[in-house]
Amino acid sequence: MMKRKEFLKTGLAFGVGTFLPSFNSRKPISAIGKARNIIFFSYDGFSWEDFSSAQQFSRRNFQKPLNLEKLFHRGSAGSMQSHSLTSMVTDSAAATTTWSTGRKIVNGSLSVFPDGEELTTILELAKAKGKATGIVSNTTITHATPAGWIAKHLNRRDEENIAEQYAAFKADVMIGGGIEAFAPNLRSDGKDLFKPFVDDGYSVVTDLDNFRMAQPDKILAVLSEDHVPYEIDRRFRGVSAPTHREMAEKGLEILDGSENGFVLHIETGRIDHANHRTDAGASLWEILAADETLGMLMDYVDKTPETVLIMASDHGTGGASVYGVGERYRSSSEIHDLLNKRTASFSWIMSELGRNPSEEFIKEIINDATGVELSDNNARMLQQAISGEFVMPDEAAFPRQPIATLGYVLKGGTNDVPTHLNINFGTTQHTAGAVPAAIYGNGVDAKPFGLIDNTDLFYLMTDLMGIDYQNPEMSPEKAVSFYE
Ligand code: ZN
Ligand code: MG
Ligand code: ZN
Repeated sequence: MMKRKEFLKTGLAFGVGTFLPSFNSRKPISAIGKARNIIFFSYDGFSWEDFSSAQQFSRRNFQKPLNLEKLFHRGSAGSMQSHSLTSMVTDSAAATTTWSTGRKIVNGSLSVFPDGEELTTILELAKAKGKATGIVSNTTITHATPAGWIAKHLNRRDEENIAEQYAAFKADVMIGGGIEAFAPNLRSDGKDLFKPFVDDGYSVVTDLDNFRMAQPDKILAVLSEDHVPYEIDRRFRGVSAPTHREMAEKGLEILDGSENGFVLHIETGRIDHANHRTDAGASLWEILAADETLGMLMDYVDKTPETVLIMASDHGTGGASVYGVGERYRSSSEIHDLLNKRTASFSWIMSELGRNPSEEFIKEIINDATGVELSDNNARMLQQAISGEFVMPDEAAFPRQPIATLGYVLKGGTNDVPTHLNINFGTTQHTAGAVPAAIYGNGVDAKPFGLIDNTDLFYLMTDLMGIDYQNPEMSPEKAVSFYE
């Protein structure tokens, strides 16, 4: 097995013209000092452009900066490259694995190489050190981003198996959505995956009231059948759901004061989902909800010695750009305020429209949920997209249909929305660009950084915990050979 430094040399040599290298041996973010507690807050599908959009919205509409701005100013901040082992564009499974293991792997799998060789995750290392562990997410708790810190699987979509791996690992805190991977009446094999947790003294909750009352030592809380509903629908449509902050806060309360400290992975997972759907309103409110969580976490770090908060996005999604409008671009911010009129997610709109809506009904729902007066042409186009008769041009960039057609008609589509929101999505896929990352800690001094690699964050965490550990590795050339 090659050491990290040797791999760097060969990796770079191989990398020219074929695969992108990691450059973790630069160790640009070596920590000075140790941490008892690590909180890793991942933003799924969050780009610098998304940051700028939310930053502007918060300042103009709430007259306050984002907590994320404060984090970038007070902590060490920079950009992180996130390509996976064999693709310049990562998926969430490969990206989260790299944080949790220090290795890039093939998209779609969790902490395992294509030959089945398993990697050791940071939560396993933490547990071996006697630390408490936890995962919190507003996706299904068995979704890729949290799963990559515990489970090993060639297929991230096998969430029922991932739930079984959780039952074997037994993190102290698991809070999210995804009853369907645990409940016997919803699992394909009829197994009761709540039982092993109940037997082991966990508080197992599936409803909000019990969740809010629970004060356990260990918890499995799955608070929705699938993902936790979007913040925009909770806020404006009365959809019942926990806030992101209350899920994170509960997890933190349970882990706080653990004898040997803790490692807690919190994800805000639905920025990605909204961006996949070209849904700027839902994406914005996910970012704002996460920002409430972030403020709470920064306060916790400020008053808790030896605690480090790491924030990072795993990749961009949707390639949204906010573009300049008007003479000297001076209408840009005003037009951007049209985001204020978005009061439902695209998913909510589409389920409201159903399978065979009339043009009139489409116009009514869209106007109510976005403030846009849809033209006859665009209402018809959306109707045809829903029935499968119309497919947007550029299918490779916009495979998610018919929902992306909703974004297309809202931005004017073929013509006629005179003052539409100045946010333009380039795709419904993930994107390659470097993404935001930051480190914040009381009593732990991390150097400022420019561009890091996602592998670096694993080594930052092991340094902080005083662990010297390297996982096995595989070259990109060998990894692709399994898929040829
Ligand atoms: Zn992701
Ligand atoms: Mg995710
Ligand atoms: Zn995604």
